[in-house]
Amino acid sequence: MQSENANSIVFEHVGKRYNKTEAIRDFHLTISGGERVILLGPSGCGKSTLLRMIAGLEEITSGTISMAGKPVNHVPCGERGVAMVFQNYALYPHMTVAENITYGLRAHHVEKEEIASRLAETLDMLQLTPYAKRLPKELSGGQRQRVALARAVIKRSPYFLLDEPLSNLDAQLRLHARKELVKIHEQYHQTFIYVTHDQIEAMTIGQKIVLLKDGEVQMADTPAMIYSRPANVFTAKFIGSPSMNIIDADYADGQLHIGSQTFRLPEMWRRQADQAKDPELYLGIRPEHLVFSDEPLDHAIEGTVKYEEYYGNRYGVYLDVNGMEMIALRDGDLPENGDKVFLRLDPDKIHLFRRTDGTSIGYPAEIPPAGSPLREETDGNGAE
Ligand code: ADP
Repeated sequence: MQSENANSIVFEHVGKRYNKTEAIRDFHLTISGGERVILLGPSGCGKSTLLRMIAGLEEITSGTISMAGKPVNHVPCGERGVAMVFQNYALYPHMTVAENITYGLRAHHVEKEEIASRLAETLDMLQLTPYAKRLPKELSGGQRQRVALARAVIKRSPYFLLDEPLSNLDAQLRLHARKELVKIHEQYHQTFIYVTHDQIEAMTIGQKIVLLKDGEVQMADTPAMIYSRPANVFTAKFIGSPSMNIIDADYADGQLHIGSQTFRLPEMWRRQADQAKDPELYLGIRPEHLVFSDEPLDHAIEGTVKYEEYYGNRYGVYLDVNGMEMIALRDGDLPENGDKVFLRLDPDKIHLFRRTDGTSIGYPAEIPPAGSPLREETDGNGAE
């Protein structure tokens, strides 16, 4: 039986400095063995540095990284059991696909029969069997990318580390490759760490997303929780497209004051806001959750239509709410520019954050977490 530490990764107080740049600050994270984790964040937030520190390609400045329960700060890359795939992979141009894939095993003198059987399985898994004897120059970009993946997969390493491996592929191939990666993980159950700045890739591939900014964790949770219960404004705006609407709202006497308008919070949210003891709030609601009508509604505020954007499958309607901009998604049936509309703020779908530091004030116990079986039953009925 495997111990609970098997193939885990634990970061404790990890810091990394490059001369004057503090790339990672006091970083804590526990990744369980076999978990599929995404390191997500804008360019320069420290994702690649973290991955390279796991691989042993980058020294850490402070703290401890443990793998399978043992500190690895001084363990060289070759002894950490990692297989890596980079954005800019290089295949050997003079070797066939099969030779490229098996190169590492041959260099480590793995037995011929073992190499042959792993090669056949890996070629089959990545649909490369018909191309085994071709040279890289005789392959398409997508096929070359699969060879780079195959070269890592064939190692059967307990840790599978991927740094933006799909960035060079076109949109269609990326879609296909995302499914391929999940399939590989489901077959081999490696501890799978995937770096990307693309929120869609993160949401579709990840079992857990670790969202970073300036070398610090903003939130680490399942895609559903990151989308439905963002811990702070940065997380709320990073996930989802168009981004979540965030407007100033001052809380007093059970009401939110939004410019000259007031919005009476339902009881469950009033309790939450009273506990927060911070009257200066942001109100957040996603464009896909903003329902509007030309008739007054319960739980509504008023806005004026500014203009529309066409996205192919939907329209984005931009609105002015007391000098603040909001956007709502609509399938059709668009109002005219300049029209006044009522915007329903479904109590089940709103978010409140402190203006002082952007952190969430939390969610009422009455709203079940995303992914909970109760969610469907209570959707839309969250009002008091
Ligand atoms: P990401 O992968 O999220 O784009 P990186 O981990 O590559 O971010 O970089 C994090 C920060 O560290 C950035 O500010 C970057 O400029 C800096 N950095 C990364 N590598 C080096 C290096 N070798 N020398 C100096 N600074 C570096």
